[in-house]
Amino acid sequence: MSRASWDAALRRALAAVVLLLSGCPAGSRRQAAAWESLGREDLAVFREALLEDEVARHPELAQATRYRLALKVADSLTEVTGRLRVRYTNRGHKPLAAIPFFLFPNLTTGALEVQSVQAGGVDLPTQLERQGSLLEVTLPAPLAPGQDTEVSLQYRLRVPSSEEGESEGFALGGGVLSLAYAYPIIPAEPSTAAERPMPVPYGDFQFAEASFYLVALDYPGNLVLAAPGAELDRRRAGARVQVLVALGPARDFYLALGRDLVSQTARRGAVEVRSYAPKGAEEGSRLALGTAVSALKDFEHRFGPYPYRRLTLVSVPFSSLGLEFPGLVMVARRLYDLGRSYDGIPARVLLEATTAHEIAHQWFYAMVGSDQLLEPWIDESAAQYATWLYYRDRYGESAAQGFLDSLEQRWARVGRAEIPLGRPVRAYSPREYSAIIYGRGPLFLRALSERMGEEHFDSFLRELCARYEWQLVTGSEVLAAAEASCSCELDDLWAQWVGTPESQAARN
Ligand SMILES: [Zn+2]
Repeated sequence: MSRASWDAALRRALAAVVLLLSGCPAGSRRQAAAWESLGREDLAVFREALLEDEVARHPELAQATRYRLALKVADSLTEVTGRLRVRYTNRGHKPLAAIPFFLFPNLTTGALEVQSVQAGGVDLPTQLERQGSLLEVTLPAPLAPGQDTEVSLQYRLRVPSSEEGESEGFALGGGVLSLAYAYPIIPAEPSTAAERPMPVPYGDFQFAEASFYLVALDYPGNLVLAAPGAELDRRRAGARVQVLVALGPARDFYLALGRDLVSQTARRGAVEVRSYAPKGAEEGSRLALGTAVSALKDFEHRFGPYPYRRLTLVSVPFSSLGLEFPGLVMVARRLYDLGRSYDGIPARVLLEATTAHEIAHQWFYAMVGSDQLLEPWIDESAAQYATWLYYRDRYGESAAQGFLDSLEQRWARVGRAEIPLGRPVRAYSPREYSAIIYGRGPLFLRALSERMGEEHFDSFLRELCARYEWQLVTGSEVLAAAEASCSCELDDLWAQWVGTPESQAARN
């Protein structure tokens, strides 16, 4: 679609939304109407969240999965009712008899209970597997390659409450409702979903393809929303607020709602950066915001443009340091206590490094996808390496040395053992995972840069981002791309650091 016709389509779609919103008396009905009216071909509303017309740049996105999600958060904040209508196109080469849905909350002390699954008004047979974390929905007839279908699910979330530092991202704690992976998610490569390794708490949980999200939220009006994407509509309905958000292409959709969240805003070019933190943590929030602006500038220069009009940062009680989502970065709340130290490292240092690392994931994970369970080194090593670049570009070589030393120290925690990078998360112990994936991984990329020459290596990263934007890349494709960039053989270095990719065995 040309730029002009795309803009016209956007205007038509928004006009339709505005018309529907103004035509009905009750706020909830108005929003429901807008949500219902968006047809399967209509991707124009997502243009609001984007700087460039990604669908025109990548026509294959026209077949991407559409999630239409309606979430109603109870006043208690521990219960959420959800309605999902998902339009799915079989982009594989074989007919698909069932669609799997990943139900992350069932791996926590909370729950996602599916109440009904339908297609065309008819109930579909379902089966829960893998500790309730996988729902297999049998289709009325196998979905042929290239064919699409729409499935509707009704569900209820029970949100676990957590104290500071104990949350996996799906929890209510410290006055913040954090909804990570809190809807039924169709994993990438759906036909293999039942055979894939189970996620473990110290790794990422998700392996998903770029999709489109239209999310209607209904929540208590005393809460502040921190979400990615574009707000298409917002209105008050008595004591509640109703918001319509669009995001896509994106591999996931995260949101947080907090009682005392305060936001600070800055701009980097055309991107609005918003940092949310609780009252009293303004200084930390400002530090995260400044880091984000610098990191965006650096990574755009090095890897290519950031795709969204907005980047959201939010401080949430969380057991790890941070977590990446498309258009949004979650950072552990304890890092905003700038006077404290953790394992001898000042919170201020951890907050800056974590923010830069999670922002690097906007390129390595959000845009260039990879299998975060089978080949976690791809996005994590790249995000760590990018963090080193951030320090180098912002503060100079000697300041960056401190971060490099921290990578060496991480690896030293397993005695610098040459454990291959190319293993699935589950194959590592938690200690090994931290040391190898976050320590040895970025050191490998540094060794690769030395072998290829920094100029070739830098253009390899840029080309990788351009070539695999909104797609999935495997370790062997990363190797092929690197060899193409330097016109050299890298097998020996790969064997020494990455090893034989076990993921290939798992794929075959
Ligand atoms: Zn990471």
